[in-house]
Amino acid sequence: MAIETIAVIGTGLMGRGIAYAAAVAGFRTVLHDVSADALDRALSHIRKDLDDGISRGKVTPQQATEALGRLEAEQELAGAAAAADFVIEAVPEDMALKVRTFERLDERCREDVVLASNTSALSVTEIAAAAKRPERVIGMHFFNPVPKMKLVEIVRALETSTAAVETTVDVARRMGKDTVVVKESPGFITSRINALIGNEAFLILQEGVASAEDIDKALKLGLNHPMGPFEMVDLVGLDTRLAVLEFLHKSLGEKYKPAPLMVQHVKAGRLGRKVGRGVYDYRGKS
Ligand code: NAD
Repeated sequence: MAIETIAVIGTGLMGRGIAYAAAVAGFRTVLHDVSADALDRALSHIRKDLDDGISRGKVTPQQATEALGRLEAEQELAGAAAAADFVIEAVPEDMALKVRTFERLDERCREDVVLASNTSALSVTEIAAAAKRPERVIGMHFFNPVPKMKLVEIVRALETSTAAVETTVDVARRMGKDTVVVKESPGFITSRINALIGNEAFLILQEGVASAEDIDKALKLGLNHPMGPFEMVDLVGLDTRLAVLEFLHKSLGEKYKPAPLMVQHVKAGRLGRKVGRGVYDYRGKS
């Protein structure tokens, strides 16, 4: 079955980026969110991202106009589900909410439609159990900011069929992304390794081995990382990173025990760029 229409469920930070990539790639893209404000905000962000794309030479003005013409906002889940050939869910990272959303999508989408979740760490097998089509439920882990990041980690849950994996790889490629397919496992590849690097950086800082600036500099200039681990965690959010580490610690063992200094930062409210202060201080800077 040819995939022409993608429904994006939840149009916050990730959903709007996914909708941007889908529309630019030529898919009719139906956006749905419980919040009418979030839908409006998503559309205006996408317009701005298209303008940025034009100024960076990534899209032509004509491609941007055509992409805008492919976007539709839909306030009812039923309308978005009925239109979809493929669904990408990006509601908040909460298992009960994901399960409810997949139950509702399963009832309303055509039987052959693949339902993908953009979860960063939750069990796709558990989400799939909410649907009567677990063989067509899959993880599709995009990265922030979606328009710029090349990778999609495709997560094969216990019951996911090979046909659903192939369909999802094809959709990701058409969206201009490269893919890796992983068996469901806590943190997949990227979150697992990234959390460990970030935690080790906090342990080194805590031991007084080097300053945060020098640890970042060492990884950038010595190991060719595009960002230092503290720059990265300030962007991701220290609370988000701590939640990932606690989950990995519980599911994979002691190696992932969160560094006490990171826990202290979270207790102090130093959650990263989003609050103006994390490992570094952004207050008064634009
Ligand atoms: P967000 O809070 O920015 O957006 C979530 C959106 O979902 C909001 O607009 C909200 O109104 C909407 N929503 C809530 N309940 C809904 C429902 N029942 N039906 C439809 N819409 C609903 O969150 P986000 O950062 O975009 O994260 C979304 C998902 O993507 C999460 O699973 C997260 O773990 C994952 N993810 C996030 C990142 C990141 O860097 N933020 C990276 C990769 C994956």
